[in-house]
Amino acid sequence: MERYLATIEKKNHLNAFLKVFNQESLERARSIDARLAKGTAGPLAGMVIAVKDVICMKHKTVTCGSRILEHFESPYDATVIGRLNDADAILIGKTNLDEFAMGSSTENSAFGVTLNPVDESRVPGGSSGGSAVAVAAGLATAALGTDTGGSIRQPAALCGVVGIKPTYGRVSRYGLVAFASSFDQIGVFSSTVSDAALVLRVISGHDPCDSTSATLPVPDYAASLTGSVRGLRLGLPKEYFTPALDQEIKNAIMGKLDFLKKSGATLKEVSLPHTDYTIAAYYILTTAEASSNLARYDGARYGRRAAEVHDLIEMYTRSRSEGFGDEVKRRIMLGTYVLSAGYYDAYYRKGQKVRRLIKEDFNRAFQEVDCLITPTSPTTAFKIGQKADDPLTMYLSDIYTVSANLAGLPGISIPCGTDRQGLPIGLQILGRGFDEQTILRVADVVEKQPQK
Ligand code: GLN
Repeated sequence: MERYLATIEKKNHLNAFLKVFNQESLERARSIDARLAKGTAGPLAGMVIAVKDVICMKHKTVTCGSRILEHFESPYDATVIGRLNDADAILIGKTNLDEFAMGSSTENSAFGVTLNPVDESRVPGGSSGGSAVAVAAGLATAALGTDTGGSIRQPAALCGVVGIKPTYGRVSRYGLVAFASSFDQIGVFSSTVSDAALVLRVISGHDPCDSTSATLPVPDYAASLTGSVRGLRLGLPKEYFTPALDQEIKNAIMGKLDFLKKSGATLKEVSLPHTDYTIAAYYILTTAEASSNLARYDGARYGRRAAEVHDLIEMYTRSRSEGFGDEVKRRIMLGTYVLSAGYYDAYYRKGQKVRRLIKEDFNRAFQEVDCLITPTSPTTAFKIGQKADDPLTMYLSDIYTVSANLAGLPGISIPCGTDRQGLPIGLQILGRGFDEQTILRVADVVEKQPQK
């Protein structure tokens, strides 16, 4: 614990944490030591976990990277927090993120950009950039993130760590501040697949406080890491391997596929014909949900209220204008537009139909194969500022990740070598709904490939 706290101090300039619980963490470590000595410690004893600052911890601020919630204290613990505490994990602090988890670079935080530890002139990805950096820079053993369109998998890829987004409904969202409720899932960053498996098991499972959490039993994920992929059918969606894909990323993925084939898996090309529409559908549906979810920040109940206002409308307008950053405002406006009378059918309803078609693409593919292998991100870590003024280019960072959220499927990103500049490349594995076991198993085999 002391070593982690010292490293955090040394690497403070990375801006991975918004808050560190120094004293509390040391006290927790002492009491867990005592339980270890007595033989009564929980399954995560000794794990030091960082928490994205969009997940509520009792009596702690939950800023969501936004001025509007800068001083807001949560009155209760999210379900995942309660479960980690019960398992004797130590929650070391809250990590930086794009405001309300909207972004792919962590440049949209009201509290400054987070730096990629591999190359500090580059972004760590986003929106869970602080959590990815916490693990990549050795500031925590594991971290919680959230993934609405790739916010765990993409920063994991750009920082060279493991990141898993479970199936929608696998992990309770109670106590997670909502961005797009039908897309959001909490998941895990770690250095190894087996650590991800351990943490995922603890946070998964039904929760009466979240009606969208599934009642299915939670498997022992660590036990599903058999070390073998023999007989598994791996699918390569041809729409993800177009000439537009960076050649170095493609070569890195192909290398791993070779290895998987030699290890007894079979490879098969499959088609996800509606891939071209994923970004459009995602940015229509998630902005619609966001515009509705973020209506609650109006100065009346949650967070910031503008000073010296004279009437109600002025209170709403000024509190929101001062409290939200540009990207959040852009999404609220887009979402309000696609839901408005006269445009609802053309955009929102059509987006929902496309979402269904994308789900059906996956259902068809999963009749032929057991999981899909794709790149996680179209590029490696880009320079800070490079895409910040071009929202559309930024949105295209999510081209390989948003489909899993549209379809509600589990996905994992694992390190897959580096490019010529030494920047990490991520490999993504997508699985059937509630079959996290298979993607973890494949990820584990890839991770353990002997290096020559
Ligand atoms: N980058 C995507 C977005 O900006 C995904 C965000 C997320 O998964 N929270 O919406």
